[in-house]
Amino acid sequence: MSLSAQTNHQAFQLTSIGIVHSCYQQKFGIPRQPGLVTEATARIELLPPFNRLDVLDGLEDFSHIWVHFIFHACIQDGWKAKIRPPRLGGKTKMGVFATRATHRPNPIGLSVIKLGKIYQEDKKVFIDLHGADLLDGTPVIDIKPYLPYADIVDDAKGGFAPLSTVTRPVLFSKQAESDCESYTLATGRNIRDLIEQIVSQDPRPAYLVEKTNREHGMQLWDINIKWQAKTDHFEILRLEPLSNIKQD
Ligand code: SAH
Repeated sequence: MSLSAQTNHQAFQLTSIGIVHSCYQQKFGIPRQPGLVTEATARIELLPPFNRLDVLDGLEDFSHIWVHFIFHACIQDGWKAKIRPPRLGGKTKMGVFATRATHRPNPIGLSVIKLGKIYQEDKKVFIDLHGADLLDGTPVIDIKPYLPYADIVDDAKGGFAPLSTVTRPVLFSKQAESDCESYTLATGRNIRDLIEQIVSQDPRPAYLVEKTNREHGMQLWDINIKWQAKTDHFEILRLEPLSNIKQD
């Protein structure tokens, strides 16, 4: 296909090749990039007609994959030319294409994610993911292997985000410790480490970062986690079951 001046604004139609099942049931709490919360579990279910193992032949030998996906939960909000990255305290604006913001002209996300098992279950094909930053229900539009020889850039410069963010200690109340133990016993999910990793990243939006003692709620699987920011640490208060139980 040759591209001429007239085709500069061509529209393309994309098809979901898969859908994400994830521990993250809402945007709040999801880390700002993959790999930061290694305990996060998710899997991609391939959708027909791509729900066949042969399309993944050879992928199992790679440790990581690039997942291209749609920011489906914010499409309706549109996009802005300038964004306030949380990294800059929400005070400075950057051009949308200088950021990894979710609100973009084309709502496409890109994450490099640790690959887990590839398997078939009840005629469905699944790819396990470790440390994903993806919301439950995210449409996946492409999967590619991560190629270290080409994708690792030794002398890369990180612009306004040169290093990963500083984390803060997370303390659990007695109630929260016992709620985590009961949840793990009932489900086999290591929710304590997951909560610790998520909250230590400080998922609060920049405008709330100066506020302490406000109670936050964050939904993981079928549980609402209540926590608070203190001046030098975060405190997990308790886990509250949600009535609308959703399976992954
Ligand atoms: N690694 C990706 C995503 C970075 S933005 C990229 O660089 O393109 C990360 C944020 O995306 C998370 O904090 C989460 O709130 C948001 N997110 C994840 N899945 C989403 C979805 N399906 N719709 C809207 N926002 C989503």
